[in-house]
Amino acid sequence: MATKLSSFLKELNNQELHLFYYYRYNEFLPGSQDQIDAEIRKRNLQLSITAKPVKLEIVEGNASALCKKCGSPKFLAQSKKEIKVGKFARNESVYMEYKCSLCNKIY
Ligand SMILES: [Zn+2]
Repeated sequence: MATKLSSFLKELNNQELHLFYYYRYNEFLPGSQDQIDAEIRKRNLQLSITAKPVKLEIVEGNASALCKKCGSPKFLAQSKKEIKVGKFARNESVYMEYKCSLCNKIY
């Protein structure tokens, strides 16, 4: 059965998979961790969750669009709502938040 996670994993190159594994493995439930393990096994990779992977190489020209922590170009955009309650009024503002898909850094 192909899930959203397993198809996401398939699109990653080996180095991206390592970054994802290093930064995010522990946030997943056991069933999802199995999928991550399976993808790593399928590629015959010996990844260590304790060895920090190197940042992705910066492709010339798009450095500003890359995650500063891991170098990934993959982001998830989410709209966030912020509500500020004052004495007389409630102010709602909506803003976009971008989260790195590999290391979870928020922009
Ligand atoms: Zn990142």
